Amino acid sequence: MNCLFCRIIEGQIPSSKVYEDEYVLAFRDIDPQAPTHILIIPKKHYDSVLEAGPRIIGRMTEVAKKLAVSEGIAENGFRIVINTGEEGGQSVKHLHMHLLGGRSMQWPPG
Ligand code: AMP
Repeated sequence: MNCLFCRIIEGQIPSSKVYEDEYVLAFRDIDPQAPTHILIIPKKHYDSVLEAGPRIIGRMTEVAKKLAVSEGIAENGFRIVINTGEEGGQSVKHLHMHLLGGRSMQWPPG
């Protein structure tokens, strides 16, 4: 298996797991860009959001919302990001949602 996040799901690469269910895994980003930076990924491999349907995107979003509350960033605000493709800045070709919070965010993003 060549996909980094599939290997994390299989437990072949360690991760700092914060949530897991039948469909979704969430773990802390190895190179955090904010005090809270969590990646939420589907257990089934999709190259990007372009391949994924509303059910899995909905599940991932619900997990992101719950984690925002449990991480204590819901009240002040947070950001959910899905980088897609080359110009979108996607470096890992397994669909993932970034949950970022704990600091003030800039807009527009770089
Ligand atoms: P993206 O650039 O949107 O594709 O996001 C990929 C993210 O995966 C980056 O924020 C990386 O820091 C993160 N990442 C890469 N390898 C690992 C790893 N082994 N464990 C946790 N996060 C990782």
